[in-house]
Amino acid sequence: MIVSDSTSLPLPRGAGRPIDQQTLDDLRRIVGGQHVLTTDGDVEPYSRDATPLFRARPGVVVLPASTGEVSAVLRMASERGIPVTPRGAGSNLAAATIPEHGGIVLVLTRMTTIKEISPDELLAVVEAGVTTAELADSAAALGLLYAPDPGSRTVSTVAGNVAMCAGGLRGLKYGVTRNYVLGLEVVLPTGEVIRTGGRLWKDVAGYDLTRLLTGSEGTLGVITEVTVALLPMPAVARTGVAYFGSLADAGRAVAGVIHDGLVPATLEFLDNRCINAVEDFAKLGLDRDAGALLLFGDDGTAESVERSLSLMAATCERTGARGVTMAKDIAESEALLTARRCSLPALARLAPVTMLEDATVPRPRLAEMVDRIDAIAARHNVVVATFGHAGDGNLHPTIVFDPADGDVRHRAEAAFGEVFDTAIEMGGTITGEHGVGAAKRPYLQRRLGADQMALLRRLKAAFDPAGILNPGKLGS
Ligand SMILES: Cc1cc2nc3c(=O)[nH]c(=O)nc-3n(C[C@H](O)[C@H](O)[C@H](O)COP(=O)(O)OP(=O)(O)OC[C@H]3O[C@@H](n4cnc5c(N)ncnc54)[C@H](O)[C@@H]3O)c2cc1C
Repeated sequence: MIVSDSTSLPLPRGAGRPIDQQTLDDLRRIVGGQHVLTTDGDVEPYSRDATPLFRARPGVVVLPASTGEVSAVLRMASERGIPVTPRGAGSNLAAATIPEHGGIVLVLTRMTTIKEISPDELLAVVEAGVTTAELADSAAALGLLYAPDPGSRTVSTVAGNVAMCAGGLRGLKYGVTRNYVLGLEVVLPTGEVIRTGGRLWKDVAGYDLTRLLTGSEGTLGVITEVTVALLPMPAVARTGVAYFGSLADAGRAVAGVIHDGLVPATLEFLDNRCINAVEDFAKLGLDRDAGALLLFGDDGTAESVERSLSLMAATCERTGARGVTMAKDIAESEALLTARRCSLPALARLAPVTMLEDATVPRPRLAEMVDRIDAIAARHNVVVATFGHAGDGNLHPTIVFDPADGDVRHRAEAAFGEVFDTAIEMGGTITGEHGVGAAKRPYLQRRLGADQMALLRRLKAAFDPAGILNPGKLGS
């Protein structure tokens, strides 16, 4: 589905055209012949990402190994008007790496050097293609915490996290990727290499381009190096689980926890359908009859964690939990976190297509939003299960279906359209962490309004005069 309107920026002149022989020769000269992929079999994996139902064939896939190579590719693409879709691991859930207008898919996964981890400055400098888990594990080995924790951490790249401003399971206490990006090396679409921010915690010289580029979804520049802030590793982390008759009760527990002055590291929920899907998948001994499961946890010193978990358990009991269990050790904590981490693969087993969505509402309205999602799903006759980050008001309603079942895809899309309208009406947003990409494009203007959309397009044009980077997405 390609949507544009009269105010969209023009597409680059090479959009939808095959890549000519001269360009292929030039790309091979820049990155080496084996890093330029052109056959159907070789480019097929790059015609899709983790978003079902979206697919488009790239003209060519190019895997550069250095900032200089990225710069040479982009300069040439700008001069020739060839669309370029930057890509990390392709794990995004918003169709953000689908090359809808063909051209070059520029894959950064060969740039995998961890250049520095500084315990003195509490920072790390990594190339674009380092995975989130590699960064976090390398920091942990030095007693340091890289806090952003997306469920895709073993595959997603750090630059992909920055480009999507990825969130994760620790958002309430630790924030999201943007809170940790100190500096970026970025290649502009015209080939110039700039450095935004740097190693400093305090630096207000000029517009905050680091923040603008964080979450820009590969539409403004190609990130080649990231400097991130690290924290001292907390001594202890522990998790508990509470079961409730309904999500409304779980919502009251969340409100109670915040009211008690706690900012826990983990506050995640699963509805009844998710609980059962996860139990079928992972056999963790979850209470299948519960209306909602609330996973709560914290980290810090042994005393502070003990106090915070005891208070949270008491609050859950006071607000009507039908059972509360605390993990005794790290292994039990990990098993509980698995329940949340495997929600998506567990739901994916229920039907051939899994449409996972992402909306956020003000935290106190979470339970109301889940009720409204259930009502919307019933009206459109689709099966929905919802899980998410209760502490952030960030929900992941997930519709599973068999595409052979008549017009179910259209019913699912119509249901999600209503879900996003409902989130906006409740003071929320159409995406809390997964981004806009091509999947959410039809809803972006509803969230931002026409004036802000026009400003986004002017910003896009300033960065990318030829309109080559991820054309048609975000500000295009
Ligand atoms: C099982 C699963 C669990 C997930 N859990 C979470 C979660 O908890 N929280 C969350 O926020 N997301 C989650 N995601 C979504 C996804 O992993 C994130 O959006 C992640 O940040 C994408 O990283 P990537 O390297 O795969 O980027 P890609 O998918 O390759 O690209 C994502 C976007 O970034 C751009 N991009 C990539 N690299 C660059 C670069 N070097 N320079 C400029 N732009 C670039 C692309 O053009 C695209 O717009 C999950 C996905 C899966 C499949």
